[in-house]
Amino acid sequence: MNYLVYENWRAERKAVVHKSTCGHANEGHQRIEEQWLINHPSPNDRWFGYFENLESAVAFASLLPNRQLKMCGHCLQIEKGLM
Ligand SMILES: [Zn+2]
Repeated sequence: MNYLVYENWRAERKAVVHKSTCGHANEGHQRIEEQWLINHPSPNDRWFGYFENLESAVAFASLLPNRQLKMCGHCLQIEKGLM
């Protein structure tokens, strides 16, 4: 299982951890993959990945300055409840 971190600094200052299989982990129905990450810079947000485990993704997300760390309510519902 791989994990992704979604960072947004416009709409909401947040960093959201997702599983790579999450339905939210795509953009315009394109999978978020390494090549996509390189080719699609955005002024509003960014995806980081992949992380091999949840701990690494959370550790990375927690290092992003001024972002509220969140677990995806869709793919990490159980983990979200544990925070
Ligand atoms: Zn998700």
